[in-house]
Amino acid sequence: MHEMSLTEGILRVLEQQAAAQGFTRVVKVRLEIGELSAVDPESLRFCFEAIRDETVADGAELEIIPLPGRAFCVDCGKEVPLPHRFAVCPDCGGGKLQLSGGDEMRIKDLEVE
Ligand SMILES: [Zn+2]
Repeated sequence: MHEMSLTEGILRVLEQQAAAQGFTRVVKVRLEIGELSAVDPESLRFCFEAIRDETVADGAELEIIPLPGRAFCVDCGKEVPLPHRFAVCPDCGGGKLQLSGGDEMRIKDLEVE
């Protein structure tokens, strides 16, 4: 499961931010996860809680904010919601959709001490 390596990556970013910005403890991490990103939020939470201790994020809370999928429809020229990667346009039924959001994972912000 790739959530463990993603979590290790997040903790590395937190350690770097702590060193750069001079805080010693992360209280809360707000993480945005796109619904089309193939990251399982519950697995990620499990991994985070398993390895956060003894790091700058010891005891930190993880808040996961889901980002809905979005796409640009070439046929009707509109930005439309995309529930899954192979969906068609909900407006015109066209299949020429270009993914424009919802496949990303990023740290939105942190609460630190
Ligand atoms: Zn359309």
